[in-house]
Amino acid sequence: MSRRQIFAGNWKMYKTYNEAVDLVKGIMKDIADIGSKEVVVFPPAVYLRDIVSLCKNSGIDVGIQNIHFEKEGAFTGEISPLMAKDVEVRYALIGHSERRHVFHETDDEVNKKVKAALEAGLEPVVCVGELLEEREAGKSEDVVRRQTEVAFKDIDIKFVQKIIIAYEPVWAIGTGKVATPDIADTMHKSIRETVKKKYNEKTADGISILYGGSVKPENIAELYAKDNIDGVLVGGASLKIKSFLDIIHVAQ
Ligand code: PEP
Repeated sequence: MSRRQIFAGNWKMYKTYNEAVDLVKGIMKDIADIGSKEVVVFPPAVYLRDIVSLCKNSGIDVGIQNIHFEKEGAFTGEISPLMAKDVEVRYALIGHSERRHVFHETDDEVNKKVKAALEAGLEPVVCVGELLEEREAGKSEDVVRRQTEVAFKDIDIKFVQKIIIAYEPVWAIGTGKVATPDIADTMHKSIRETVKKKYNEKTADGISILYGGSVKPENIAELYAKDNIDGVLVGGASLKIKSFLDIIHVAQ
């Protein structure tokens, strides 16, 4: 089954406005030949409206790095799914490890955000991944199974095709320690199995699962060669035009 192949850049809290504009313009100059691969960027929220407008008809889709699960309210500093939709972003990154571990976001909040994103017409990119101590204790698959099950709690099968999963082992994010292609492939298979148990085989086969964690031009080829890796979510290496483009181009 052919699944969507997605190359996403998470810019986190980096880039001034001019730098963000230069980055996205640089990426769009060199993606004419990437075939069916899809490119997505997640800029800081204050730049979204302008980046969305720059990206129209460029082949780059845009997402927001985080949303609140309420439609509106007294939540100073937060952004609702409706607001993100209003500035025409397509995706919402949900449950990134920095949200879970720095801002203490829970599995239940992740589930509420997935529901709120879908309700607003956004496509969630749901991040899951274990901590180093969980991997060392042999609990990686259990942790990621729990995160996936809770993220999909009460999500109707008709919405599942709108959801993308990103497996991002916390020990590999921003550390330079990439998961081996075999570890990533095993974890992706296990995630697909969880989706299959909850829904069915066809649904599980159709869902794109991205790998994230210290992806670079030097390691993309062997990761992307794995059957269960349908693209990547890139942090550090997505902040430079050349390294992000190299990742997209090297992946075959
Ligand atoms: C990320 O932030 O999602 C990420 C994978 O970061 P990095 O590529 O820098 O490890």
